[in-house]
Amino acid sequence: MLLITCPWCGPRAETEFSCGGEAGIVRPTAPDTVSDAEWADYLFMRSNHRGLHREQWWHAHGCRRWFIVRRDTVTYRIDGIEKLGAAGEAT
Ligand SMILES: [Zn+2]
Repeated sequence: MLLITCPWCGPRAETEFSCGGEAGIVRPTAPDTVSDAEWADYLFMRSNHRGLHREQWWHAHGCRRWFIVRRDTVTYRIDGIEKLGAAGEAT
């Protein structure tokens, strides 16, 4: 089991959290102007990166806040935690 450090609550068991997938996916600013293929890319296509990457986590059974975890997908080692900024991206 992973031990994840919530930026507000401190270290907690993985079971308190929910993973929201890859971080940094930007919603098109004008969804009506993008093609179906571009919209499908936004909704479904992810890098499925092997190694260190950034993903969103939600402290569902705690403070209920979202934050970013930099985690190695091969070793599960957590390299860092980032709070989200006002614009929804890491600060
Ligand atoms: Zn928390």
